[in-house]
Amino acid sequence: MKTIEFPVKDPKKPPKIEFANRCVNCGKPKETTLGLSLDMGVQKRDTPVMMTLTVPMCNRCDEKERRVAMVTLVPFLIAGLIIGIIAFVPATLIAPEGTTPQTLAFPFVFGGFAGLIAGIIGGTVVEVIVKMFAASFFGKLVIQRPLTVLGLFSSTDELIGGSAKYMKDKKIARLVFENDEIAREFNTLNGLERV
Ligand SMILES: [Zn+2]
Repeated sequence: MKTIEFPVKDPKKPPKIEFANRCVNCGKPKETTLGLSLDMGVQKRDTPVMMTLTVPMCNRCDEKERRVAMVTLVPFLIAGLIIGIIAFVPATLIAPEGTTPQTLAFPFVFGGFAGLIAGIIGGTVVEVIVKMFAASFFGKLVIQRPLTVLGLFSSTDELIGGSAKYMKDKKIARLVFENDEIAREFNTLNGLERV
């Protein structure tokens, strides 16, 4: 595994990052691509500036990546939504009703908050359970993938074969490659120092 730090001089003009024409995970010829967007933390004409990475993949690894999402992100979202709605209704009903126009909406705010918290917790529990079952089919790929809830609070994009993250304070895009050879090739292509 290799970590590469890519300096970003001007976050408003994110550098174009090049990838070799082969799968970042297994090194087979590129058959498809997956897009990642890193938030640069700045705005240009009221829209957030994103650095887009077009990551080459082979069909097999792309398929694997989708299957990992099916047992991590998808259960989290679906279970989180259902549990969130279930929590929203009673929380709204038990919340004290406001007496002034300013507090009239309080039950809904309270219910929405309770639903959000319950949804995140419930979604995570379901994701952990699904992951445990899925691990016997997918192995370490699924185990290594951080829980979706952690992804909500960090800016790291995880992908089969590596991850990408932009560190605002240091102005560095950090890319992690699981395949060392691909990492070396990436360095050469982008004119970075040898690792
Ligand atoms: Zn591949």
